[in-house]
Amino acid sequence: MTTGFDVLVVGAGPAGCVTAEEAARRGARVCLIEQSEEIGYPIRTSGGSFISELRELGISERFFHAIRRVKFASRNRSIAFDYPEPVVCVLDVRALYQHLALMAASAGVELRLGSRVIDVVREGTRVCGVIVRTGGATHNYAAPVVVDCSGFAAVVLRKAGLRDSFRRFGFGAEYDLYAPRYPEDEALLVVGSDVIPCGYGWAFPRGGGRVRVGVGTIHPDTRAVPQRYLDRFMHECAAIAPSLIGAQPLERHVGYIPSEGVCREFVFDGVMAVGDAAGQASTLLGEGIRYSIKAGRMAGRVVGEAVVSGDPSRARLSQYQARWLAEHGRFMRLAYIINRRIARYDDAKWDRGIALLEKLSPQVFSRLLMSDFSPGVLARVVAAAPRVLASVFRSFVAN
Ligand SMILES: Cc1cc2nc3c(=O)[nH]c(=O)nc-3n(C[C@H](O)[C@H](O)[C@H](O)COP(=O)(O)OP(=O)(O)OC[C@H]3O[C@@H](n4cnc5c(N)ncnc54)[C@H](O)[C@@H]3O)c2cc1C
Repeated sequence: MTTGFDVLVVGAGPAGCVTAEEAARRGARVCLIEQSEEIGYPIRTSGGSFISELRELGISERFFHAIRRVKFASRNRSIAFDYPEPVVCVLDVRALYQHLALMAASAGVELRLGSRVIDVVREGTRVCGVIVRTGGATHNYAAPVVVDCSGFAAVVLRKAGLRDSFRRFGFGAEYDLYAPRYPEDEALLVVGSDVIPCGYGWAFPRGGGRVRVGVGTIHPDTRAVPQRYLDRFMHECAAIAPSLIGAQPLERHVGYIPSEGVCREFVFDGVMAVGDAAGQASTLLGEGIRYSIKAGRMAGRVVGEAVVSGDPSRARLSQYQARWLAEHGRFMRLAYIINRRIARYDDAKWDRGIALLEKLSPQVFSRLLMSDFSPGVLARVVAAAPRVLASVFRSFVAN
């Protein structure tokens, strides 16, 4: 049994690295356990994000590529929003995750790579450690608090019997291409039956001729397997195919993201969950990196202070849950309602939807993409397209 740690963080994605760093900076002895041999590998995300939010989180510009135009296309319509002052960006995911891990290490966190958590250790109902497979050997680790940052796997919560596997989830496949003809500062979102059912296709350029091109869908709303749609999207979809002539794949990624709406409980006896493991991504587009970093900051502070003060009780750790839900619960709920609704759109509805979006300014469109449903943004949506808000409001009340 390995002892001597105050906090075990499982999973070194953005949620895990940031939670571990914050807890360590508050004086906790933290071990960060990651199944992969390398931080940020394999990549399971496209890295689309928002510059103002990243700046607020202190993420340096060297980790993202700015986008100046966002195009949104349905089967028969398309619209382009221009941003002379860029709002949207595409992250260098591997570099960012390695930087976050480096920050954790510099705060005193001990990292264990190639170490897969296979079960939890319990005393009564309280989780007090994890069982880890490393290179064929099994080790037990004990600590007052275990933080589940294992993403979609939610391995700690599941093994502790605190939740089931996610039943509704986004499932995506993408290529990271060398595509020299693709416009370097233009992101593209494409919906419609010629792309994939219940989902969308994307192209996110990330500089240096590299572009992430993918398709994602939602299970079990459909059983479509994105890998089967990806090549057709790249080679046959009129919105993108011409700019990918001569493109070559350098990486292929596949990933899953929970899409069940707001998770109301993610703090238990001796366990808390952060990031995708707690269902904290916005389900609107399946965007979770900045949310994982934000949640990691909140959770790391709370757990660090709790263990150092000698009170890692559920009540104390629940401060994090209360703060997260107060700050993000409402917008996340609305994002989920919209996602459920648009997942059922047919081509005609998407064409009408794009016609409505034409009435919005680039700024309002980008706020909506960010899942910002604050009164100021909604007022501007109402002014431009009253019917959009009326229908969303009806769904909100019905839910
Ligand atoms: C196809 C796709 C495209 C996406 N595109 C975007 C996008 O453009 N922008 C955006 O913001 N978000 C996007 N997301 C969502 C984003 O990737 C996630 O919200 C984000 O990665 C969540 O971070 P996390 O740290 O919670 O989990 P993860 O990044 O999934 O990290 C979990 C870590 O836990 C490790 N782990 C898992 N199980 C174990 C175990 N048993 N033992 C030890 N370690 C374990 C994993 O190896 C991994 O390193 C996308 C997701 C998908 C699937």
